[in-house]
Amino acid sequence: MRHELPNLPAACTAVEILRAGIDAADGPVSLACSFSLEDVTIIHLAHEAGLNLGIFALDTGRLNEETYEVADCVTHRFGVKIDWFFPRHDAVEQLEREKGLFSFRESLDNRHECCSIRKVEPLGRALAGLGGWVTGMRSEQSVTRGTLLPLELDELNGGILKINPLHHWSEEEVIAYVEKQRLPTNRLLRQGYRSIGCAPCTRPVEPGEHPRTGRWWWENPEHKECGLHRR
Ligand code: SF4
Repeated sequence: MRHELPNLPAACTAVEILRAGIDAADGPVSLACSFSLEDVTIIHLAHEAGLNLGIFALDTGRLNEETYEVADCVTHRFGVKIDWFFPRHDAVEQLEREKGLFSFRESLDNRHECCSIRKVEPLGRALAGLGGWVTGMRSEQSVTRGTLLPLELDELNGGILKINPLHHWSEEEVIAYVEKQRLPTNRLLRQGYRSIGCAPCTRPVEPGEHPRTGRWWWENPEHKECGLHRR
């Protein structure tokens, strides 16, 4: 377990943050990939810089078909292997038998239960043995991410490094990078989706609405995390 963070210069690029985190981690480092614009940007940055970065993804069983298409494009374009993690089938079977297919809309507790089974528990298995993990989180994405740092100690996951190389990027910068590099993108983005998670918990947003408005739209903004990024 780490107890110190490496020092970073005041103004760091995303690649410098990635490299510093990978060098400082006590073990392999992997990107938690949901195939967002941010995640494909990080994959491209790491690929171009020749960094040793693994990629894992959580298949919750409720993803959009379009998300799998991006995963397939990323695999072929960059020649990378994606380590997929599924929820425990017995936990999903029990949840759906006892509470139905849409229990997450009935209460915050039920939503957390579903995210815990489909995301948080598999994340724990994905992080086992890693020295650090990389996320595509950005500070401006939501009220829950305003104090995000480039490097953090993830005390809730064994004290490994959590590396947020795009923490200081704006949405416009990410889009410009993706377009310039012609990176694979989710077709749903062209249908008004701005932040894409599980299909039943994601909807398009209106022009001018905050991108995260389309995630768990029936909840208050301060509750809009799935448990993967508790801090
Ligand atoms: S985002 Fe929705 S469907 Fe996906 S794990 Fe969370 S509650 Fe379940």
